[in-house]
Amino acid sequence: MSVETQKETLGFQTEVKQLLHLMIHSLYSNKEIFLRELISNASDAVDKLRFEALAKPELLEDGAELKIRVSFDKDAKTVTLEDNGIGMSREETIAHLGTIAKSGTADFLKNLSGDQKKDSSLIGQFGVGFYSAFIVADKVEVFTRRAGLAAGEGVHWASKGEGEFEIATVEKAERGTRIVLHLKSGEEEFADGWRLRNVIKKYSDHIGLPIELPKEFHGEEKDKPAEPEWEVVNRASALWTRPRTEVTDEQYQEFYKHVSHDYDNPLSWSHNKVEGKLEYTSLLYVPGRAPFDLYQREAPRGLKLYVQRVFIMDQADEFLPLYLRFIKGVVDSNDLSLNVSREILQKDPVIDSMKSALTKRVLDMLEKLAKNEPEQYKTFWKNFGQVLKEGPAEDFANKEKIAGLLRFASTAEGEGEQVVSLGDYVSRLKQGQDKIYFLTGESYAQVKNSPHLEVFRKKGIEVLLLTDRIDEWLMSYLTEFDGKSFVDVARGDLDLGLLDSEEDKKAQEEVAKSKEGLVERLKTALGEQVAEVRVSHRLTDSPAILAIGEQDLGLQMRQILEASGQKVPDSKPIFEFNPSHPLIEKLDAEPDEDRFGDLSHILFDQAALAAGDSLKDPAAYVQRLNKLLIELSA
Ligand code: ADP
Ligand code: MG
Repeated sequence: MSVETQKETLGFQTEVKQLLHLMIHSLYSNKEIFLRELISNASDAVDKLRFEALAKPELLEDGAELKIRVSFDKDAKTVTLEDNGIGMSREETIAHLGTIAKSGTADFLKNLSGDQKKDSSLIGQFGVGFYSAFIVADKVEVFTRRAGLAAGEGVHWASKGEGEFEIATVEKAERGTRIVLHLKSGEEEFADGWRLRNVIKKYSDHIGLPIELPKEFHGEEKDKPAEPEWEVVNRASALWTRPRTEVTDEQYQEFYKHVSHDYDNPLSWSHNKVEGKLEYTSLLYVPGRAPFDLYQREAPRGLKLYVQRVFIMDQADEFLPLYLRFIKGVVDSNDLSLNVSREILQKDPVIDSMKSALTKRVLDMLEKLAKNEPEQYKTFWKNFGQVLKEGPAEDFANKEKIAGLLRFASTAEGEGEQVVSLGDYVSRLKQGQDKIYFLTGESYAQVKNSPHLEVFRKKGIEVLLLTDRIDEWLMSYLTEFDGKSFVDVARGDLDLGLLDSEEDKKAQEEVAKSKEGLVERLKTALGEQVAEVRVSHRLTDSPAILAIGEQDLGLQMRQILEASGQKVPDSKPIFEFNPSHPLIEKLDAEPDEDRFGDLSHILFDQAALAAGDSLKDPAAYVQRLNKLLIELSA
């Protein structure tokens, strides 16, 4: 071996050690995937070289065919992977093979509890990457040289995966990266041509460049050539360029893992070739789980962009709207120029029409998933439902389509599971019902017992129960579905339309008239606290309720705004009472104005509590209540 200079020993970032630990403990039953990861990296490295060579052809140096070679040595117990891709400089090697590149990972790992750290399913959130080499190797060596640097600027990196790595500058004649795995005892099976070939076929057949293995030599040892003959073991054509009928589900799944750096299978995919005015191929995937950084604003997202098969960039986020940021995949365009940049992408009208077509593809794919595989769709909804709910606000044109994909909890379903679609709801409308009723609140437990639901329960009308933080905001963008408008049952003067018979309405008017005196007394007692007092027709069991004015902010929005430090316009609730409730009857008959006042305040505060709001003056509430209790027991 050549001379090593500038040798130093450096420590891994703490989180790398954690990740290594997590990996080795969770992947022991699927060790062979290390090969997939290293080949995936080699393929990325070749993609990057091709791209950089567009502007600097001299990077290709010798002009040799771009490929990956995998070899082994049974006696030395090693497996070696070699690529002639972009390679790494010394700084890049330290940065990429000593830390976790994905921003936010460190924070995420730091905040895991001890139990979670042991959870093997976590690995899917990161993908496994280069460090998976340590699943089968107790020593890993990397020899690499960045394309364009001199032969003397090669790098030798070596580590036992125990917290440190060594790095030195060496001579390396060929551009690219060679990785030597010194197999752990017990893992010698991988130093075998047949085994390697099978693993490559299984996981890496989709890789778009040749992967070569040494040809088996059957002659006598003395005749064995010094340089082996090589043979290609994969199909070596980019997967998305093949016709759908020639690609198996397993191949689609493996390709997903390569482009997404995810460890688990996707839920669904859609592969399409578009010809005509625009020409492009897209292969879009719905992941099986949400990454930990789904809600981080700067988290990388977007598709892998190719132009005429040449890799251009990762994370091209101009092709899909923000609310579909979880989609992974590839888009390969024939219309864009090879020197397209992010700046150009942002302005190019071609991108706009691709974006709307791809958006529609994703929504169609989700519709299909919901229809054909409801269980899978449930998983999708759990992981990404909250993100999809951003859709109606962001994408006006597809509002109705997105609305059809939403799922809600409802009074017609137990357990608060979000499984009811608006389509389901509309198909169950009562005779004479032309509205979609919903109630928003803090938690399922709170809304399911809300007094606002009493009249609906009595009449057997379904109400959607919305308890995600984003729901009230979402509903301010959804006005109707399938021609039916949405009605917040806690808002305004509830008019059930045809659901109330003429007699019902007449009776309600009469009751309202007979209680005018009580309304006035309550107004005086509650004073500034309320916008209005009126007789309620929506209560059966509760004495009173607070309704929100038609134009006022709901509780959820108010709390969100307050939490973000914004000034929230003051709004007062409407106090509605149940005329036939025994407490109200007692109140009506109360001659003492002081006691009347105490009782009305208690009813008001209770109604606020039932709505999930907090009391402005809890001490006063307790005092009044205790006073009554004492009188009661006296
Ligand atoms: P990921 O592939 O998700 O970026 P990895 O852990 O697999 O994460 O690899 C880390 C980084 O190391 C890569 O992003 C790349 O910059 C670098 N790298 C790994 N293998 C190679 C290689 N064969 N050639 C050049 N760079 C590589
Ligand atoms: Mg990788």
